[in-house]
Amino acid sequence: MIVLLMGPQGVGKGTYAKKLEEKYNIPTISTGDIFRENIKNQTATGKIAKSYIDNGNLVPDKITINMLKKRIEQEDCENGFFLDGFPRTIAQAEALDADLTVDKVLFFTANDKTIIERLEGRRVCKKCGANYHVKFIPPKKEGICDACGGELYQREDDHKEAIEKRLDLFKKQTLPVIDYYKNKKLVAIIDSLPIKRVAEVMNNVEKALRTT
Ligand code: AMP
Repeated sequence: MIVLLMGPQGVGKGTYAKKLEEKYNIPTISTGDIFRENIKNQTATGKIAKSYIDNGNLVPDKITINMLKKRIEQEDCENGFFLDGFPRTIAQAEALDADLTVDKVLFFTANDKTIIERLEGRRVCKKCGANYHVKFIPPKKEGICDACGGELYQREDDHKEAIEKRLDLFKKQTLPVIDYYKNKKLVAIIDSLPIKRVAEVMNNVEKALRTT
């Protein structure tokens, strides 16, 4: 099963990705996470990607596609995977479709105000990547991950200017990708508004996946 988790940043994809991984026992591949790992390890890819990411721009397609292809060739992807944050451009979608068949696209939606509020308050575990929010999903102990005890941090690109730029980029570059998959009748729209509980959204996700 190959499922794409799409939607603007801050809509909750990371939260559901973790839950889906546990439920379906296949990995979630996040291109953003792989880039951050490369930056941390100061690899050649990381050095190129850093300036794009810190400024809220997309990393060029060629670099992103090569990095993703290398990752999904690994053994743990044999039975399928969830993709979080890829494809973000039509060129990336075409590169993916050239090699494999996408079964479903989950399009997570929320309004811009909600997204900005979510991203500004987002905290991420340095060790395991779990996502928290200072107001909506606070950890039991401030600054510490409930799951692994790792330190929580605020991402460099989670400040207002970069957030607004990313939202704009999403509309210009990634909405056409969702239309591309709508034409293939693969898209399920998942309303991810904050008033909805995580369990309720997860229920809708599972329902959508039953129809793949
Ligand atoms: P994310 O964690 O998905 O929000 O990604 C963080 C940043 O990594 C994005 O703002 C982009 O700069 C870069 N990035 C992640 N995935 C992609 C992609 N598929 N194409 C281009 N850039 C990406």
